[in-house]
Amino acid sequence: EPAVILCIGMAGSGKSTFMQRLTASIHSAKKTPYVVNLDPAVGKLPFGCNIDIQDVVNYKQVMKQYGLGPNGGIITSLNLFTTKFDQVLDLIGKRSKELDYVVFDTPGQIEIFTWSASGQIITDTLATLHPTVLAYIIDTPRSSSPATFISNMMYALSILYKTKLPMILVFNKCDVVDASFAREWMTDFESFQEAVRGDEESGYMGSLVGSMGLVLEEFYNALKVVSVSAVTGAGMDDFFTAVDEAVSEYKTDYRPAMEKKI
Ligand code: GDP
Repeated sequence: EPAVILCIGMAGSGKSTFMQRLTASIHSAKKTPYVVNLDPAVGKLPFGCNIDIQDVVNYKQVMKQYGLGPNGGIITSLNLFTTKFDQVLDLIGKRSKELDYVVFDTPGQIEIFTWSASGQIITDTLATLHPTVLAYIIDTPRSSSPATFISNMMYALSILYKTKLPMILVFNKCDVVDASFAREWMTDFESFQEAVRGDEESGYMGSLVGSMGLVLEEFYNALKVVSVSAVTGAGMDDFFTAVDEAVSEYKTDYRPAMEKKI
């Protein structure tokens, strides 16, 4: 049974580069990926892809036809694609014996996937059929101040509670800034408070940021954290270990809860 990895992340987090690295690492481990691109506006993909939404819907045409702006065009394209998602599931199902991973890339405008009806339908139907985990890609250098760090964690938290799926926080670009500060902040509350106190940028927000750190402690326990570089490939072994753990978590927590609902 393949594991489904849904890659999500803010624009610029390095999601495309990570997708490229991920598929390359799967191949070099002599395993078989199945790759699906759900971003209708990405243009030429830097990685090989089995199903590309761009082959099914023409985003520019959709914008013109329905008189929409860029975001409306992306949402509508994703909606149109979702009406045919059963075919994607069939294709994955047919090959599920030979596949190790099914990897999804999602639109660069993160909320288009995480807060849309079609994003939810895609996530839920996948998670009903296969062990499904979220990989939340984070721009580490841009999360190195306490305020931006906590904002990013709040966003991850909102997605975690919306989907209830196992989540891996992928601190990317560790070749530029190592993610050890993040690990420390997530495990040692005092060190985070100290960083808040020493941070000019937090300013009047300091006490809010500090309190958030306290609130999020519980949430951190539910997450797996890895530090990678999509460019150099560092940390990818840790990522796959985290996927294995997340899949076990899916099987012990998510699936039984879902079966109870049915
Ligand atoms: P996306 O918008 O999330 O798909 O981001 P991209 O994959 O296009 O990457 C955004 C920018 O970050 C590009 O300039 C990449 O070269 C750079 N980038 C992505 N991953 C890494 C990394 O691991 N290390 C470094 N140094 N740069 C990276």
